[in-house]
Amino acid sequence: MQQPSVLIWKAFVDENLCVGCGKCTEACWTGAIRIIDKKAVVDFNRCVCCAICVRTCPRGAIRIVPYSFPILQREVERGEDLDEIKMQLRGIGTQLEEMERSIKEL
Ligand code: SF4
Ligand code: SF4
Repeated sequence: MQQPSVLIWKAFVDENLCVGCGKCTEACWTGAIRIIDKKAVVDFNRCVCCAICVRTCPRGAIRIVPYSFPILQREVERGEDLDEIKMQLRGIGTQLEEMERSIKEL
């Protein structure tokens, strides 16, 4: 039987386009982007998918892309307490609200 899964949207940096200028790190209000070895790196735990960095990058190196949520899948498979899953879904809801707010500001 196919396991339920959830997609979560996060910023993704194309290393081939990134020149390490740091504009995205200045713009990201959650502190989710750092420059490591002259390339921008996104901390998925901090990224709330607001897309501000996408609009800031002069090289078009950042996109918002979907990732599967493996922790959620693992917990469903194990039949563990649903509280953690509920918490994660609340987090996704918060991210969607942030995205909606950001889109309205465009
Ligand atoms: S703004 Fe774009 S080019 Fe500059 S560091 Fe960030 S991702 Fe790289
Ligand atoms: S989408 Fe928003 S929170 Fe995520 S890295 Fe970009 S600016 Fe930061």
